[in-house]
Amino acid sequence: MDCIFCKIAAGEIPSNKLYEDDLCVAFYDLSPQAPVHFLVVPREHISGTDKLNDQNCAVVGHIFSVIAKLTAQLGLDKGYRVVNNCGEDGGQTVGHLHFHVLGGRTLAWPPG
Ligand code: 5GP
Ligand code: ZN
Repeated sequence: MDCIFCKIAAGEIPSNKLYEDDLCVAFYDLSPQAPVHFLVVPREHISGTDKLNDQNCAVVGHIFSVIAKLTAQLGLDKGYRVVNNCGEDGGQTVGHLHFHVLGGRTLAWPPG
């Protein structure tokens, strides 16, 4: 399958990884939108949140526990934002489930 995040998870494409385990990989975004901007993806190819179901959704809870650990390690004690873009209207550009983690500055709300 020609999926860039599957290839990053497998180490076939280089990335600036900050964490990996059996279930997920975290790496810095190529085009950071905040002083800290990394992505967390499941190793399993799931194309987006719209394809989550009772059989494959446990990894999402795991990813959020990893996010809590990583943001603490990075000193984001003033807060951060977790973003998932789903589908065309949601602004998704890579068809492999991923959560953006943004921090290190005050983030505007609501998003555009
Ligand atoms: P989306 O728009 O799908 O929510 O987010 C995709 C994100 O992946 C974008 O923020 C984009 O900068 C990032 N991205 C796309 N290709 C690569 C890549 O090859 N390496 C890394 N590290 N980030 C990527
Ligand atoms: Zn994939």
